[in-house]
Amino acid sequence: MKRTISILGSTGSIGKQALEVVEALPGKFEIFALAAGKNTELLKEQIEKFRPKVVSVSAEGLADELRSQVGQVEVLWGSEGLKEIAGNRQNDMVLMAVTGLNGLEPTICAIENGVDVALANKETLISAGNIVIRLAKENNVNIIPVDSEHSAVYQCLRARKEATVKKVILTASGGPFRTKTFEVMQNASVKTTLAHPRWSMGDKITIDSATLMNKGLEVIEAHWLFNVDYSDIEVIIHPQSIIHGAVEFADGSVIAQMGLPSMHIPIQFALTYPETFEGIKTNSLDFTQILGLDFEKPDLKKFPALELAYEAGKKGGTYPAALNAINEEAVYAFLAGNIKLTDIAKIVSKGLEVHKNTENPSYKDILEADKTSRIFVKNYFVINSNC
Ligand code: MG
Repeated sequence: MKRTISILGSTGSIGKQALEVVEALPGKFEIFALAAGKNTELLKEQIEKFRPKVVSVSAEGLADELRSQVGQVEVLWGSEGLKEIAGNRQNDMVLMAVTGLNGLEPTICAIENGVDVALANKETLISAGNIVIRLAKENNVNIIPVDSEHSAVYQCLRARKEATVKKVILTASGGPFRTKTFEVMQNASVKTTLAHPRWSMGDKITIDSATLMNKGLEVIEAHWLFNVDYSDIEVIIHPQSIIHGAVEFADGSVIAQMGLPSMHIPIQFALTYPETFEGIKTNSLDFTQILGLDFEKPDLKKFPALELAYEAGKKGGTYPAALNAINEEAVYAFLAGNIKLTDIAKIVSKGLEVHKNTENPSYKDILEADKTSRIFVKNYFVINSNC
């Protein structure tokens, strides 16, 4: 196997780990392109090491600067740069690891050009699952999830040829406030909230893990990826993060996927699928060293974000896009120190109440819902600061 891949979001947490996977599997990959945001220093190191043909950065000025510093590499910029890279048919696969709705258009470009997608960008399926999944089917393109829970379920489903699924189970570590009171959560600083007990991830997703919105967003992704009803997706708190996901089949048999928490494993699974290599050395899961595996029902009173996500998913249309946009703006407000952690779900709930839904949304409808939802949050802050 030699696979030509591009990594969109190469300087982010998933992108960096993906390049570690590539490095650990010499001769297996050729890097066609790398796309970063603003971190051109790291991108330059990556160009040096991985010799891509094309790179892209977020803005024209950064691209001009980079062009004068690196030779032999085509330098693109902005959303056009991302689309041009993703849609290039030299790629066998694109790893979509940019954050936000920026990932949607390039994902569609990849699919329309028959390029398989290793999907680490949540917003794509949450906001536009109806469009993305339909296009992937029409173009016979594989979408392989990179998120650990979805990778787990994807693997479980492949354990059986003709699988009639009863239930998909997603596990959640429960985040840093699982054992804390609502009051502690309410007064939590940005720093404590960013200290996730199990996974090392970017800031936005770490905050989402603390509110359990991350799990809610994953429920919506699972609905689209695995074509299961929301009533057949169950979230279970499992603080040890050893079981990442499971599938219960119609006959009552349950297959779960396990492993020590490491993002390298699902990233490598997606990049090398359907083959398996040793790659990055990971410790074996030593069953005799596991002191216990605990499972609990999520506390929806303390973590209302999870229920809000289920509701938005069930309502469908542009509700999930709105949920995602409102949440994202609220998380940034929390990170900036402007609101409390527990305000995030309150703002999401208010925003969904006033959201005007569009059934079976087009790409334009989704962008519109995203935009108006963000404006809602900005206005919400203006109104509340006047009180
Ligand atoms: Mg996850």
